[in-house]
Amino acid sequence: MDKTKFEDLLLEKPLVKLIGTHFKQPTSIQVKTIPSILEDKDVIASSKTGSGKTLAFAAGTIQKVEPDFGMQALVLVPTRELVEQVADVFKTFSEYKGLNVATVYGGVSFNKQVKSLEDADIVVGTPGRVLEHTKTKSIYLQRITTLILDEADVMAKLGFFPTIKKIMKHLPKKIQTLLFSATQSKEIKKLAGEYMKNPVSIAAKEKVDTSKLEQIYYEVTTKQKLSLLTHLLQQEQSKLVIVFCNTKNNVDFVSKNLKLSGLDVYSFHSGVDQKQRNKIIRDFNKGKKTIVVGTNVLARGLDVEEISHIYNYDSPFDPRFYIHRIGRTARAGKEGKAISLVAERDKDHFKKVIEVNKVEIRKKTLPKFEFIKTDYKIKRDYKKKNRN
Ligand code: ADP
Ligand code: MG
Repeated sequence: MDKTKFEDLLLEKPLVKLIGTHFKQPTSIQVKTIPSILEDKDVIASSKTGSGKTLAFAAGTIQKVEPDFGMQALVLVPTRELVEQVADVFKTFSEYKGLNVATVYGGVSFNKQVKSLEDADIVVGTPGRVLEHTKTKSIYLQRITTLILDEADVMAKLGFFPTIKKIMKHLPKKIQTLLFSATQSKEIKKLAGEYMKNPVSIAAKEKVDTSKLEQIYYEVTTKQKLSLLTHLLQQEQSKLVIVFCNTKNNVDFVSKNLKLSGLDVYSFHSGVDQKQRNKIIRDFNKGKKTIVVGTNVLARGLDVEEISHIYNYDSPFDPRFYIHRIGRTARAGKEGKAISLVAERDKDHFKKVIEVNKVEIRKKTLPKFEFIKTDYKIKRDYKKKNRN
């Protein structure tokens, strides 16, 4: 075990004290990146989901930002939920020096954001909305000294890099750039090559901590999937549960059918409006509803404690999303279970999941379960809608 303490990382006393009221010891990625960030180096950092990357880039940034000096740090993240989460970390740990942290994302009032941008020291936002603000000149980026891209791999995959590059054109030439992500990818290296100066590359080598996470799969027919899922959800002792599907249509289909079996569930995908999405996260955090059925949107950086079970109703099209998904459970030493339901049409994707991620997933024999009648109306309606 690494014995490094927060006070060994060049952090100023009041910040060390504040962090100490939350955490005992820095995580490995925090130990490795905080000093370089404080030395104004460009950093490319990767470590598994749940390893504390947010505080890793927030701590040094907070220390360097001076109140009443204009907007000095810009943090770009892929989703609105993540904006709120990351901003919360910046707010919590900058309390000792009273920094203003503004959030910027789509789906909510533009004008309110304009107001909060006026006295912001740090801005956390999604690339699209930030770019919009540059167009209306409601964001002044010439004082920025640090640019942070969180979940850079995900942003690359979602096609956000062109937007990010446009934003970068509005930034001063000499700034510090920090790229954080769960995995390194070609796109990240390419962006780094174009925009960063001798970046320090830091990877906290640990793979997903599988010691606390049980990974299993069942081989099923497509028709058995819902019945087995219903059975497992009713039988397994669980706290919070996420069921991942590949499409919005499947999310609605699965959650509707779970509801018909008397289970209390929420649907979560990009088609659900922002207010409702925020409410779901809040309720989920409070343990109000214990099952959320969602697309990969839910897998991106969401930090909710106490998730005990992850179900892969569909195996992800992109194998790397398996890691993002299972990263939602077994956090901070807690135990978790990741259960994949593998039907014929999942097989190729599932094989890739194992090959690419080098994970061991144990096959389990099917338990006895009741066959439930499935309502396919949603799927039919969806097909109809898309035909017209
Ligand atoms: P990542 O971005 O790497 O997925 P997060 O920054 O979301 O991880 O952190 C995951 C969880 O770990 C959060 O609940 C956070 O509060 C907690 N955490 C962060 N730093 C520490 C630490 N030094 N010790 C214990 N828990 C920590
Ligand atoms: Mg993160």
